[in-house]
Amino acid sequence: MRILEVTDLVKTFKAKRRFLKRSPEVICALNGLSFNLDEGETLGLVGESGCGKSTLARCLLKLYPVDSGHIVYRGRDITRLNPSQMKPLRCEMQMIFQDPSASLNPRMKIGNALMEPLVVHNIVPKDQRRDRVTELLNLVGLHADAMGKYPHEFSGGQRQRIGIARALTVNPRLIVADEAVSALDISIQAQIINLMTDLKARFNLSMIFIAHDLKVVEHIADRILVMYLGKIMEVIHSDEIKNARHPYTKCLLSAVPVPDPRAASHRQILKGEIPSPANLPAGCVFHTRCPIARRECAQHVPGLREIKGGHQVACGLV
Ligand code: SF4
Repeated sequence: MRILEVTDLVKTFKAKRRFLKRSPEVICALNGLSFNLDEGETLGLVGESGCGKSTLARCLLKLYPVDSGHIVYRGRDITRLNPSQMKPLRCEMQMIFQDPSASLNPRMKIGNALMEPLVVHNIVPKDQRRDRVTELLNLVGLHADAMGKYPHEFSGGQRQRIGIARALTVNPRLIVADEAVSALDISIQAQIINLMTDLKARFNLSMIFIAHDLKVVEHIADRILVMYLGKIMEVIHSDEIKNARHPYTKCLLSAVPVPDPRAASHRQILKGEIPSPANLPAGCVFHTRCPIARRECAQHVPGLREIKGGHQVACGLV
């Protein structure tokens, strides 16, 4: 069953008006995105900084309004729901942030921080809340003693565990993890990814896992969606990632460090900077950096076409 269906999503922002400019610049963060997420599936979202991943996460959870398009959650179009209509769904859709400290009050003990959603949403009877918080802490590999401590008393990895516990307090169905492991050391990243994989299986969670590192996403995701300048470049099953066809995905794969120095000579290096989303290139948005671009690439916008069994590519030349 589909938990999420996204169709033609467009989101723009108006930048501040620049000196001597008549009208403010329009930044196109999402440029007609369509994809689905099945119940119990993890969809990995990758792309460079500025490609629109975090904007997409916030639009999906209705933290940003969208310009056009549709977001259907469990069969219900939630695109135009107002905050009070969204309130019952807030528990079902939770976000895990890159910096868990940002979502934790530095002056609030962890026990109170985890208890707060239970009180606000009246999920657990008063006399059972402490037990529920202990259970949540144990689920994420922390001891019940953590309840009496403040966020600054924990390491980055432990704080992310608390962030995960906080997301789980309200029994969500959908988790959007926005660069949840990007700020952590490699060894801690692996621990948090294993934890999230276990919890996902245990509670049959559906997940959108956002990261700029393709290798990290490959470990946790069932399918991978590659984004560039607010558009989908490729959708591929993670165990098929080696057979990626889009030149941008190949460049991202080439950027993954490998122990074999001979492999480094075959690398496709991504040259230049990502263009400004306020001034999108005509035709294929990747043509200014594509290693195999031809003249016609600047004239035609390639649509997303299916190659085989759910593998989709937005490029007419591969
Ligand atoms: Fe490269 Fe052209 Fe394909 Fe775009 S359409 S990815 S520019 S080859």
